[in-house]
Amino acid sequence: MLRLDRIGRRFPGGVEALAGISLDLASGDFVALLGPSGCGKSTLLRLIAGLDPPDSGALAWAGGRPPAPGEIGFVFQDPTLLPWASAAANVGLPFRLHDPAPADAAALVDAALARVGLAGFANARPRQLSGGMRMRVSIARALVTRPRLLLMDEPFAALDEFTRHRLQEDLRALWREAGCTIVFVTHSVYEACFLARRIVLMTPRPGRIAREITADLPEGPARRLDPAYATLVATVSGAMTEVLRDAGETAG
Ligand code: ADP
Ligand code: MG
Repeated sequence: MLRLDRIGRRFPGGVEALAGISLDLASGDFVALLGPSGCGKSTLLRLIAGLDPPDSGALAWAGGRPPAPGEIGFVFQDPTLLPWASAAANVGLPFRLHDPAPADAAALVDAALARVGLAGFANARPRQLSGGMRMRVSIARALVTRPRLLLMDEPFAALDEFTRHRLQEDLRALWREAGCTIVFVTHSVYEACFLARRIVLMTPRPGRIAREITADLPEGPARRLDPAYATLVATVSGAMTEVLRDAGETAG
């Protein structure tokens, strides 16, 4: 789907955020970008989204053109919902931004809400919803245009642990069902190991790709209890500790 070739990004003022990032994204992948705060994960996601240009290197999209706006969905840590608008109106927002809106926009909004488990909440306002439900609305909004690529930037970081686990489980199921490609930014080893098929470890700033670890866990929520999950967490933790040590930082 996408090849990143030696991407670099330096901000005005001299902060070098990314250096020499090369990564291939295959259609249907679930990739976690894992690294410490400030290592350039959000910057990399914004580059993939086309919201920010690289200073060096290139992005090569399969087919020769970047996805159209509706073909990429973006979910941030903050659900960024319009407080005065209903859940349905928030989910339908992408259709107000892209023209022309499809004739079946209302049905697509209903389907997206159902897909994240909020079928009965179309008319609820954000303040009537829990934090987890607000994030579900945000995910439905990203899915409503049926994107090929879903970019997620620490979407569950502010949620309590039980809600986070539920959303992680539902996101896995949703990915398998929708067949889209997901790039998920996180600084949680546990989250990366639970969710992703490929775990890409980044160095502290300037962010480089240090290692990649492939996950092959049994499917279903029970994977969290599987010994293979514990082993994977230990492997990724150990690798991350080495990456930080090599970069001259103390882990934790
Ligand atoms: P992460 O998401 O991994 O925490 P970011 O991609 O947000 O890291 O940021 C990487 C580095 O680039 C940080 O040091 C941050 O302060 C800096 N940075 C990010 N955006 C900007 C910007 N618009 N202008 C200047 N510096 C920035
Ligand atoms: Mg970030």
